[in-house]
Amino acid sequence: MPISVAIVGSGPAAFYTAEALVNSSKDVSIDFIERLPTPFGLIRGGVAPDHQNTKNVTKKYEKTAINDQVRFFGNVNVGRDVSLVELREIYDAVVLATGAPRDRKLGIPGEDKAGVFGSADFVGWYNGHPDFRDLNPDLNVSTAAVIGVGNVALDVARLLIREKEELVKADIADHAEKAILESPIKDVYILGRRGLVEAKFTNVEIKEMGKLAACVPQVKPDQLPDGIGDLPDREKRLKTRNLEAFLEYSKRLPNEKPKRVHFEFYAQPVEILGNDRVEGIRLERTIVEEGRAVGTGEFFEIECGLVVAAIGYLSEPLEGAPFDEKGGIIPNDDGRVDDGLYAAGWIKRGPSGVISSNRPDGVATAQHIQKDFAQGAKPGRTALEKLLKERNVRSVSFADWQKIDAAEINNAEGERPRRKFTTVADMLDILDR
Ligand code: NAP
Repeated sequence: MPISVAIVGSGPAAFYTAEALVNSSKDVSIDFIERLPTPFGLIRGGVAPDHQNTKNVTKKYEKTAINDQVRFFGNVNVGRDVSLVELREIYDAVVLATGAPRDRKLGIPGEDKAGVFGSADFVGWYNGHPDFRDLNPDLNVSTAAVIGVGNVALDVARLLIREKEELVKADIADHAEKAILESPIKDVYILGRRGLVEAKFTNVEIKEMGKLAACVPQVKPDQLPDGIGDLPDREKRLKTRNLEAFLEYSKRLPNEKPKRVHFEFYAQPVEILGNDRVEGIRLERTIVEEGRAVGTGEFFEIECGLVVAAIGYLSEPLEGAPFDEKGGIIPNDDGRVDDGLYAAGWIKRGPSGVISSNRPDGVATAQHIQKDFAQGAKPGRTALEKLLKERNVRSVSFADWQKIDAAEINNAEGERPRRKFTTVADMLDILDR
């Protein structure tokens, strides 16, 4: 009997696990169990819509999905349609690869005001994720602030000031494109509580900020370090390139282009200002001591009508699995959680790294499963299908997804890669035609 494996989620970590399992043995059957009718997790719902090259990795994932050993059960919600306990009863191994969909909280007064969003929600909104299509952020403001100095902060800031011609090849959701193109936003602040050396930006993404059609980066020269300091070689090389880009930005004039992205370092948010709606943000100047941001007691304010906190993500606890609330991950030993239970990707190690950083997780999990099971003992797929049928759960196969995919591609005009459906009902409707 083949080893039966259920992978909960269908983002990069899920696909790398499936790929490694398929490559390791013919005697393993793998089922993706995905809450949405659409596969690919963060590639579809997280990677910026103007980064289509990154999204092309799905071509590789498709090869795994159509392998005979693999099935996709979309539109099946673990925790509602089937429990984790049940999955563990019917599969030899269950791999949790559900990512980190929740926003970390700022923990400062005023963060619940209207106009303040976490980046998970905001990114989901412009990417047409069904959970966030009704977020409806009011972009009818002149200034926005993005908290955090990582790549998600750059994504959010960049999307906010994109021009029509820069979005023609993007698969941005219609509602977001309309709001962004109609928005009068002219200034976006990117706020870091520490300095450029500590910032998490990567070089390609920083350079992109210097080539925007209608926006010029603004950097205060006195906030840049004289040098990078003592770091391991590779890191030093990368950080030096970042510094070179910022030194160039520090010479750019504010009126070069109609819009500006201001990088403000050493600025720790302490309060979101305003009545019901955000009207500004109060910050404390910091210095960095032993790597930590330390407040100096000097405060200042930035007026803004929109705040997006891009300060990192947390995973979601799943009933039937342990959870480390503080770390926001599932406690695990290199991906092993419990007998027959594994974790891969962001739920295993936290929200860091690029897409391909999930590959080693997938390989490690596949190796653990191969070591832990000489052969399969549980029915897996047939038992899941029976259960879903009994419960009238309408699961979506990979062939079904391909129909949804074809319809989205067909609905797109010009160079646009696809026009996304943003409700589950619209996606299922295509399958009924
Ligand atoms: P991240 O890289 O961890 O950056 C989070 C930022 O938030 C850091 O600058 C952090 O500052 C700051 N922060 C955290 N708590 C804060 C607080 N309370 N107040 C102020 N600032 C706070 O996270 P991310 O940007 O969400 O990205 C997640 C992962 O996805 C990263 O590995 C990223 O590279 C990757 N990603 C890659 C791309 C790409 O390759 N194009 C695009 C998007 C995302 P401290 O360092 O001071 O804590």
